[in-house]
Amino acid sequence: MRVVLRLLGLVLLGLILALVVNTLRVPRHQLGAVPPPAPMAMPDSAVLRLAAAVRIPTVSTTDFAQTDTAQFGRFVAFLRQSFPRVRRRLRRQTFNTYGLLYEWRGRNPALRPILLLAHYDVVPVQPGSAAQWQQPPFAGVVAGGYLYGRGTLDDKMSVLGILEAVEYLLGTDFRPERTVLLAFGQDEETLGLRGAGAMAAALRQRGIHPEIILDEGGLVKTDGVAGLTKPVALVGTSEKGYLSLEISAVGQGGHSSMPPAHTSIGLVAGAVARLEAQPFPARLDGGVGPLLDYLAAEVPPGQRLVFANRWLFGPLIKQTLVGTASGNAALRTTTAPTIFRAGSKDNVLPVDATATVNFRILPGDSVAGVVRAVRRIVADDRVEVRLLKQGREPAPVSSTGSAAFQTLHRTIASVFPGALVAPYVLVGATDARAYAGLSPNTYRFSPLPLAEADIRRLHGTNERIRVADYQTLIRFYVALLRNGQGPTP
Ligand SMILES: [Zn+2]
Repeated sequence: MRVVLRLLGLVLLGLILALVVNTLRVPRHQLGAVPPPAPMAMPDSAVLRLAAAVRIPTVSTTDFAQTDTAQFGRFVAFLRQSFPRVRRRLRRQTFNTYGLLYEWRGRNPALRPILLLAHYDVVPVQPGSAAQWQQPPFAGVVAGGYLYGRGTLDDKMSVLGILEAVEYLLGTDFRPERTVLLAFGQDEETLGLRGAGAMAAALRQRGIHPEIILDEGGLVKTDGVAGLTKPVALVGTSEKGYLSLEISAVGQGGHSSMPPAHTSIGLVAGAVARLEAQPFPARLDGGVGPLLDYLAAEVPPGQRLVFANRWLFGPLIKQTLVGTASGNAALRTTTAPTIFRAGSKDNVLPVDATATVNFRILPGDSVAGVVRAVRRIVADDRVEVRLLKQGREPAPVSSTGSAAFQTLHRTIASVFPGALVAPYVLVGATDARAYAGLSPNTYRFSPLPLAEADIRRLHGTNERIRVADYQTLIRFYVALLRNGQGPTP
C-alpha cells in the first residue's frame, strides 16, 4: 500500500512539475517597446472627405439589377477629384466599370508588391431602423467627436484612409521600393465577384504574388479578449468557409385525416434535429490555439497554466468557450438551419418538405467533409441532401512566422502602443478570399480600436468612427507603407 501511495505521489509530483515547466516556458510573442511612427501633418480635411464619401449611398443589393450604380459612378468620380496626386502619379485600371485597381510603381521591380484591399459598397440600412440613428446614415454628420454614417466602419474608412496615406506620401520625398497595389471592390457585401473576383483574376494572370495582402477583418479590441483587459489587435490569418445544404423529403400528400406514420415534415424535421444534436467537433487547432499561444505569456499565472497546458486543459477551455455564440463559432464548423418550407393548408399533408442548413467551415474541415458528415448524421434514405450552391472552402491559413507578419505586427505595435497582437480566424467573409493563393501572407485587419458594444454598429444602427481614430487609421497605413519596403530576407 505504501509503495502504491508513494508511486501515486511521484506521478502527481511529476504532473505538477510538467505543468509548471510548461507554464514557465511559455514563449513571448509580443514585441518589446516599438518606437512610434514618424510624425506626420494630418490634413484637417481628411475627415471631411470621408464625410463626403459617406454621403454617396453606394448600397449593395443582392440582386445587382436593383443596385443604383449611378452612385458608384459618383463615388469613383469623387475619388478622382479628391486625391489629385494619386490621380496624376498612380496607374488606375477599372474592372466591371467600378472595381478600382491602382498601381504605384516601386523603384525595385525585383521585390514583390504590397497589396492593400478595401471595398466601398455598403450594406443597406434595415427598413424601419432609420429613426434609431442618432444622425442620418447617409448625411456624413460629425457630432461629439464622431463621424456617423454607413461605411464609416465597413469599409469606406479604409478606402479613403489608404488613399489619404498614399496622397500624403506622394507629397513627401518617399518613393516605395516595392510596388504598391490598391484594390477597391464595389460588391464585397454581395460576394465580391465583380470587384475582388475580377481584380484577383487579373493579378493571378499577370503572375503577381504580393509580399503581403492586407484586407479588412480583425480590429483592435479595446476591451480585451480571453479575460485580458488590455487592447488586443486581432489579425485574421484565415476565414471560415461557407456551405448551404438543402435537406428534403417527398411524402405522399393527401388528406390529414389519415396521415402515414412519417410525413415529409417529420422526416426533414428529424434530420435537422439530428444535425443540431450532433454539432461538428469543437477544435482548438482551427484558429483558437494560435490565439491562445500569442496571449499565453500575457495572462495572469493561473490562466497561463491553463493556456500552456492545453493537452490537459483543452476540454476545459473548449467547454468555457462554447458557452457563447462567438466562442462556439470560433471553435467549430457551425450548423445553422436558416430556411424551412413545407405545407400550405392545415388539413392537407404536404408532398415536399425542404430545409436549408448553412455551415461555416472551420480551417481543417472541408466542403466534402461536411457533406459526408451531414449524410452520415441524417442517415435516412428517405431524406435527400444536396448542395444548394457550390460551397467555399476555408481560406488557407497565413503564416505568423513570416517577415510580412512581423512587419504588420511591428506597425500595429508602433501605432497602437500597449495593444497586444494575436492571430485569429474570421467567422465572416471578406474580399481577401478571392485573392487566396496569391500570397501566403494574407491578413485581415482594420486599424481601428473598437469595444464590443461598438462592433455591433457594423452593419447595424449608428455606425460611426471617432474622428481621432480615423486619423490614427491613416497614420497606420502611412507607417505600414513605410515599414513594408525592406527586401524580403
Ligand atoms: Zn466589409
